[in-house]
Amino acid sequence: MSNLTQTFPAAVRYLRISLTDRCNLSCLYCRAGESGSAAEVLTPERVERFAGVLKEFGLRTVRLTGGEPLLRPDAVEFVRRIARRGLEVALTTNGLLLEKYAAALKEAGLRRLNVSLDALDPEKYAEISGGGDLRKVLKGIDAALRAGFEELKLNAVAVKNFTEAEVDRLLEYAAVKGLHLRFVELMPVGRLPFFTEDRFLPLDRIKELIEKKYGRLEPLGRGGSGASEDHFLPSLGVKVGFIRGVSKPFCAGCAKLRLTADGRVRFCLRTDREFDVTPYLDSEEELRKIIPLLLEKKRLSNLLAERLEPTRFSESRTMISIGG
Ligand code: SAM
Repeated sequence: MSNLTQTFPAAVRYLRISLTDRCNLSCLYCRAGESGSAAEVLTPERVERFAGVLKEFGLRTVRLTGGEPLLRPDAVEFVRRIARRGLEVALTTNGLLLEKYAAALKEAGLRRLNVSLDALDPEKYAEISGGGDLRKVLKGIDAALRAGFEELKLNAVAVKNFTEAEVDRLLEYAAVKGLHLRFVELMPVGRLPFFTEDRFLPLDRIKELIEKKYGRLEPLGRGGSGASEDHFLPSLGVKVGFIRGVSKPFCAGCAKLRLTADGRVRFCLRTDREFDVTPYLDSEEELRKIIPLLLEKKRLSNLLAERLEPTRFSESRTMISIGG
């Protein structure tokens, strides 16, 4: 461990990288129609360098996201290069292209895979995702299971008067397939018209619905880099997590940085602060000079985030451009 790491105790252990802001879906809570507006400055070489240098400062896990990360033809190459630096590589996808890439991603060293899936009713899925084909996602999940991904996670964003009727289907599907199902509170990132108060569904309500029908959820502690309150549901033998970014924010001790497809480091989902690292991405030496500054900014950002209203989120970018 370097001296610099000791100087900056808010070590960043987790880096979320948005490979592109293009997406093959238009989820109602994620974007306002914009897509593919950012210059994609991240190459596998640059990302390997950035992640490799951050590892000297405590980084352990890199999660690839987007937009839709599998729209990048070189997505597998990103995984291979990050994995060979001894970092744990994870990926979040909508699953539409997973059937094609699952085996290659596994072979390249991908360890953790999350698939976003808000509904199992095909029409409701199409409605929330802006026209997505549920069959393709389900085929992608099957391909990922065949490829040998363990503890595959399903992430469902909770939307009032929408998700309540999907809870049973999602739980039973997760149980049959052996998946870890997580519900995610809707976060008003980027001032979309979709974010009206009546759309917010606190996860306590989902917990209540589950326990009423299936019996008590046993707490397992925090998982998913600390964001998820994980539980086990004995009656179905399924793991269920709750990510409460609004009703119970988990800012204290946050060790996560985000890198956008246009090369900006973001310190927090709640603020608009960002730092352009593109001038430094071609040199390990330059990166080593700049990273202590990023860590200090992260530490200050954590202090600030703890003082913000829980409903306060970034306004300048929507999720599609931050990467979730
Ligand atoms: N396209 C990939 C996917 O769908 O998983 C990766 C990018 S997407 C932005 C990452 C995650 O952010 C998805 O699970 C998505 O549901 C979630 N997300 C997007 N907007 C959100 C919001 N406003 N509140 C909570 N989660 C959101």
